[in-house]
Amino acid sequence: MSEVTETIEAAGRRIAEAGLSAARPARDPVNRPAIRDWLAAIGDDNPRYEREGLAPPAMVQVWTMRGLRPSAPDDADPLRVMSDVLDEAGFTSVVATDCAQTYHRYLREGETVAVRSRLTGVAGPKRTALGEGWFVTTASTWEVDGEPVAEMRFRVLKYRPGATAPARADPIRPVTGPDSAFFWAGVDAGELRIQRCGKCGALRHPPGPGCPACGAFTPEYVVAAGTGTVHSYVVHHHPPLPGRRSPVTVALVDLDEGVRMVGELRGTRPAIGDRVQVTFADGLPVWRPAGIELPRWDLAVTPTVIISSALATRDFQDVHHDRDAAVRRGSRDIFLNILATTGFVQRYVTDWAGPAAVLRGIEIRLGAPCHPGDTLTFTGYAHGDEVAVAGRTATGEHVSGTVRVTS
Ligand code: ZN
Repeated sequence: MSEVTETIEAAGRRIAEAGLSAARPARDPVNRPAIRDWLAAIGDDNPRYEREGLAPPAMVQVWTMRGLRPSAPDDADPLRVMSDVLDEAGFTSVVATDCAQTYHRYLREGETVAVRSRLTGVAGPKRTALGEGWFVTTASTWEVDGEPVAEMRFRVLKYRPGATAPARADPIRPVTGPDSAFFWAGVDAGELRIQRCGKCGALRHPPGPGCPACGAFTPEYVVAAGTGTVHSYVVHHHPPLPGRRSPVTVALVDLDEGVRMVGELRGTRPAIGDRVQVTFADGLPVWRPAGIELPRWDLAVTPTVIISSALATRDFQDVHHDRDAAVRRGSRDIFLNILATTGFVQRYVTDWAGPAAVLRGIEIRLGAPCHPGDTLTFTGYAHGDEVAVAGRTATGEHVSGTVRVTS
């Protein structure tokens, strides 16, 4: 183990052992001007907030952001202390990777919120697409007069800028042959096709030249309803799959037509017997929990969208508003910050669920950065109280996650 690694790990242990930081109050009480700026930047026109004097739940972190010129650096904040250690070791760039927020209730105008945080994990050094770095995880609680109102698990990657990033690997593509060409042509056409014997009518999968029932070589196909039941599954964590983020759930699905098919399962914690329906993504059939498909939403991401949402979330890191600074740090342009992405995810779900819906939590993972000129396309599937949400750009999946909502 290198000396640098030892120093970082020792600092991580020391900071974790220090436990929960003292409550750090927000600069301002929850207030309507800040809420209006946020709603305008996110484009959220849910009338509920103004009518009832409530703050959008996805804003919770905004209230305790430090702002452009922090007047009194809070040395006790575990993320800041750990970041200083990693800066010192040369891991000076930062990107948020995932965030899970739970809302016990909505904040009201006039309330003053305070945050407490503790360090829960430091993992590294890891090789990532951005370079070598360390994942730092913190757990925070927001309180009003000692009452916990929201909680968050937050993870960032602190990485060394300028490290040679491995070329982005292409996702594994299906191997097609004469027997399976009809299947992949179906995927391209948005159809799940099952091979059928032209003589006896037996269905079979995977495709092959001959019928195992009668031996005839006259394959045809039918279009499946696209619904089925999870027969079994595995959750793949390691080794990494080219062009994919782990973990990946691969399920054996019993189709209602009677054949069994292997496929990726997204948007749910799997359980044997779950009802699933097929969708198509990245040129592959992808299974989702059976439920309601939300209307797709295309967000045209302009520099104004990125900068106004960064400022409305009080995130003044230069990579979200200064193109030259973003390029210096190895990015091709400014990019959307995680607080804004959380806001857009909230807007997408509440636009669909209606103003009466109550958000209980948002859990997201970030992937490909979202730059000016991108179209960020949101899709979602609702099952029970959970909505699985994904936001994709032309370069890949920017965000995926789950929103818990009750009406
Ligand atoms: Zn047959």
